[in-house]
Amino acid sequence: MFRTGGEAVARTAVSRLTQFRALGGDQIALRRHNLSTVLRQLRDHGPRSRAGIALDTGLNKATVSSLVSELIDRGLVREGQLARGAVGRPGQDLELDGTTVVGIGLEINGGYLAAQAVDLGGDIRYRCHVSCDVQHLRPDQALDVVAPLIRSSVETVQAMGVTPLGVAIAVPELVDSEPGLVSAAPQVPWHNVRVATMLAERLERPAYPILIKNEAHLAALAEYVAGSAAGSPNLLLLSADGGVSAGIVADGRLFEGAGGYAGHLGHVPLNPEGPACSCGRRGCWETLVGLSSLLHAATDPDDPVRNPNKDLMDRLAELTRRAANADARTLSAFEEVGRWLGVGTAILINLLNPEVVVLGGYFAALGTHLTGPMTRQLTSLAATSGGGGCRVELSTLGLTAAARGGAQLVLESVIDDPTIVPVRHSSIAIGDSA
Ligand SMILES: [Zn+2]
Repeated sequence: MFRTGGEAVARTAVSRLTQFRALGGDQIALRRHNLSTVLRQLRDHGPRSRAGIALDTGLNKATVSSLVSELIDRGLVREGQLARGAVGRPGQDLELDGTTVVGIGLEINGGYLAAQAVDLGGDIRYRCHVSCDVQHLRPDQALDVVAPLIRSSVETVQAMGVTPLGVAIAVPELVDSEPGLVSAAPQVPWHNVRVATMLAERLERPAYPILIKNEAHLAALAEYVAGSAAGSPNLLLLSADGGVSAGIVADGRLFEGAGGYAGHLGHVPLNPEGPACSCGRRGCWETLVGLSSLLHAATDPDDPVRNPNKDLMDRLAELTRRAANADARTLSAFEEVGRWLGVGTAILINLLNPEVVVLGGYFAALGTHLTGPMTRQLTSLAATSGGGGCRVELSTLGLTAAARGGAQLVLESVIDDPTIVPVRHSSIAIGDSA
């Protein structure tokens, strides 16, 4: 979990509360807002006493006591250690009870399916990774594979006594702002597919919500919360396992754009002399740094490394082994991809001024083979000395980042509205002080 200044959070909380009161929100909505404030405080800043929460949030002690009781009844907060160093009668610290609920994220990629269930405390409670040639399946065929994977993920966590709150599906390429509509996905042959509706039908209209998001957007969210750049409020995540996509976190919030299409970079033409692209142009970024372009440059058609039915990480490990053995073709392919990765990233750094660029997906697996030529380009092309202080990190979440981000997206809905989690045992009346 990342940390920010307690004072800043307190000011924000007080500001939100003041604004909310000015809007004349009713008592139930006000209480929901205050429950969210307390839960967010405990998640972002760790255990503290009731008095400490009151101090940090600007809520009065009686209100905090009532809110905490409800959060305990909903299984989201628990009593922890006695607070040390308190003046007078020691209070008891409260802490997030991360064990009772999970969000489930599932990534549909051209070559694999991956699922993760993550609890509110950030622990991964379940994960699976299945090689699957989705690229050559019709949408209905692919979703026939995805639906049982969701069902088994849900049943597995339920058997642990944990409540799944929802499923967020990460898909490559474009996701329309209309919920659940994948409008175009060049790496999987889908156009205007109502993924959420089709999955809900296969799962017999489950009680939990099914959300659909762009994979790079969710991967960026995961990096912000749990990855190598955790806590960096201005970060850029780049991946190219499908098309080239960027996930943008700006001022600590995921930036998706007006229609949800932000970061769709695959068909930005960078080299007029470059290879022909499926879109009809030449030298699109995707043709220069995409996974399939790398595989074509580094291998022959009958090379097992090109076999989409084999595990992608195993295939990438074979390429790095060849590079370690100084295979000229592999090294040349890595150098070329790294160089064009730097050319495109320099433009993005000049546009967005991020603190950190995280290389995700297959980029992360190839590590310094790509970052070497990439950073040489950044040095020569970035507008400011040293790229404005921007650093390049390799994702430590790798191919699991999008699924991790999907789980996080679901968990954010609990932080925003703790009342979506049912009361497990009641010790308070909902009409208590807001
Ligand atoms: Zn193109």
